[in-house]
Amino acid sequence: MEDGKPVWAPHPTDGFQLGTIVDIGADSLTIEPLKEKGKTFLASVSQVFPAEDDVNKHVEDNCSLMYLNEATLLNNIRVRYSKDKIYTYVANILIAVNPYYDIPKLYSPDTIQQYRGRSLGTLPPHVYAIADKAYRDMKVLKMSQSIIVSGESGAGKTENTKFILRYLTMSYGTGQDIDERIVEANPLLEAFGNAKTVRNNNSSRFGKFVEIHFNGKNAVVGGFVSHYLLEKSRICTQGQEERNYHVFYRLCAGAPEDIREKFHLSSPNSFRYLNRGCTRYFATRDTDQKILQNRKSSEHLKVGPLKDPLLDDHGDFNRMVVAMKKIGLDDAEKLDLFRVVAGVLHLGNIDFEEAGSTSGGCNLKRQSSQALGHCAELLGLDEEDLRVSLTTRVMLTTAGGAKDTSIKVPLKVEQANNARDALAKAVYSRLFDHVVTRVNQCFPFESSANFIGVLDIAGFEYFEHNSFEQFCINYCNEKLQQFFNERILKEEQELYQREGLGVNEVKYVDNQDCIDLVESKLVGILDILDEENRLPQPSDQHFTETVHSKHKNHFRLSVPRKSKLTVHRNVRDDEGFIIRHFAGAVCYETSKFVEKNNDALHMSLGSLISESKDRFIRELFENSNSSKDVKQKAGKLSFISVGNKFKTQLNILLDKLRSTGSGFIRCVKPNLKMVSHQFEGSQILSQLQCSG
Ligand code: ATP
Ligand code: MG
Repeated sequence: MEDGKPVWAPHPTDGFQLGTIVDIGADSLTIEPLKEKGKTFLASVSQVFPAEDDVNKHVEDNCSLMYLNEATLLNNIRVRYSKDKIYTYVANILIAVNPYYDIPKLYSPDTIQQYRGRSLGTLPPHVYAIADKAYRDMKVLKMSQSIIVSGESGAGKTENTKFILRYLTMSYGTGQDIDERIVEANPLLEAFGNAKTVRNNNSSRFGKFVEIHFNGKNAVVGGFVSHYLLEKSRICTQGQEERNYHVFYRLCAGAPEDIREKFHLSSPNSFRYLNRGCTRYFATRDTDQKILQNRKSSEHLKVGPLKDPLLDDHGDFNRMVVAMKKIGLDDAEKLDLFRVVAGVLHLGNIDFEEAGSTSGGCNLKRQSSQALGHCAELLGLDEEDLRVSLTTRVMLTTAGGAKDTSIKVPLKVEQANNARDALAKAVYSRLFDHVVTRVNQCFPFESSANFIGVLDIAGFEYFEHNSFEQFCINYCNEKLQQFFNERILKEEQELYQREGLGVNEVKYVDNQDCIDLVESKLVGILDILDEENRLPQPSDQHFTETVHSKHKNHFRLSVPRKSKLTVHRNVRDDEGFIIRHFAGAVCYETSKFVEKNNDALHMSLGSLISESKDRFIRELFENSNSSKDVKQKAGKLSFISVGNKFKTQLNILLDKLRSTGSGFIRCVKPNLKMVSHQFEGSQILSQLQCSG
């Protein structure tokens, strides 16, 4: 950096601003911003970067910048974004900024044609180029490939994943049903697994790895979807301005009269599981206003104020039904799905009140008898059995050395509420598993030579309150980051060394210690949590204390109170822990960790549901712990570990990724308002930093 030449210096909202150095101190520089002559500010040397001679020029590959640093990289993406060039390479890695509007012709069939068979770099950066590279690598190297799409919520992972699937099936399909089914599976998965959140109107609340399989002649023969961690808490409660899974509203808004009657459906406002999050919607953004003006007000009347003006539930219902048909679901199967969805809604409307006797138990509120009846009918249960299972719990006692006797313990109102919600979550998440299984049956294949897999999974998350869900997703991101480091940094450098290139070593932090902290046998946080779950009276507090006592001086772990790492001083030491992740320190609040780590229903509910009169419900709960084998182990608390299941799935996934060639797409969300043509520099900078 020379005197008088422009430099990039930190800016609170833009990320960086242009300025000139006017004075050089021991470890800080005095900068005069270009926009505000005469004013100066101090910046640390490590945060000031040389600027390109022409800051309005842009390049397709960041590696061809004269100076490659955080600031020039950000500026290059900014200039390109302003010209609707949302894709930029960093060598083989693709950065994709979400434009939040449809850029004309960007994904047209003509464009697909153009990218077919063309090497990376011969045409402007594009997600199609990455897809085609994966295909050509698969063909030439005779090796399966994976494409890892990452980024925060709303950054465009799912959209880019869909573009890849469409590209590959259109370019290298056989023109048969299979191609269309691979594409049409998405609307169905999204209906059951996506929801409106404050970050994204169509947020995927599960992770997925979609494999497209190819035969020996490199033509598409089938597909396979693996899914990870559906967010279950959403089924019963949603945050402010958020919604439950799309399918619930679509069914209420769009189902034809006969289905509405059969399943006793009414407006979403009449269902507890739908009416507590997004109670009112305020259209504040320009785009929202436009959409509002285009919507008929009659629609609003039909579904009531819960109707989200940004989402067309009625139209989406019809689209969902078309997608079901296209992938080969018949009417009976469709009704099975809808029936269970409706059953969950009625289950949610069951309310309890104190029994008023000395038993300390509770009864169903009188107004709930209709909901009980509807729920029992739709889920194939006996009304009385359902009532008893929700309000009591079977326990086995071995009092006085006698043989086991079972007794019914009455539940308190709060416990009954929890039982009801646990049942709803179990039923819905089994239904989602079924949807994925069913989708997989739509594009079966007998054998395949290779596959291209696309991973669409949530990126690193750091919210005001972070719970078990964030803990799991960030653990996953540590593993993916390690894989990225291995592939991009370690293997590249080994290659340079082998070829005798005198390239400076790029240092990166190995995060194995962080991964060990979570997944090591016995002392890892996941195993400590499982251990807690198996105690007769597990508690989040005891779990938290154990974590701290087992890892007293761990570099990656600290207690919330004394830590300078985050701002969460109001979390007590026995209420949480801080993990120093590769992308930053996160304070996890451990309340409900124990509950969220357990996938098992309590005994009475488990056997009730798995013995349903309804064949479809029984199938959903086949192979579950809730039936016979639990009865044998009765008396003990049943427990299925959510965390360790995820760990196993994740390790299988990583083994798969390691055995394939890989490509990376880093998606970037341009602004928090979810609007087009707005580039919030500092937000974007931190996303790029998180993406490694
Ligand atoms: P989440 O983690 O919440 O699932 P995501 O990264 O999958 O988020 P998407 O659902 O793919 O995010 O994108 C959010 C929204 O942004 C889309 O619904 C769409 O409106 C818009 N969007 C994303 N990518 C594009 C694109 N390439 N062109 C136009 N709009 C886009
Ligand atoms: Mg998504």
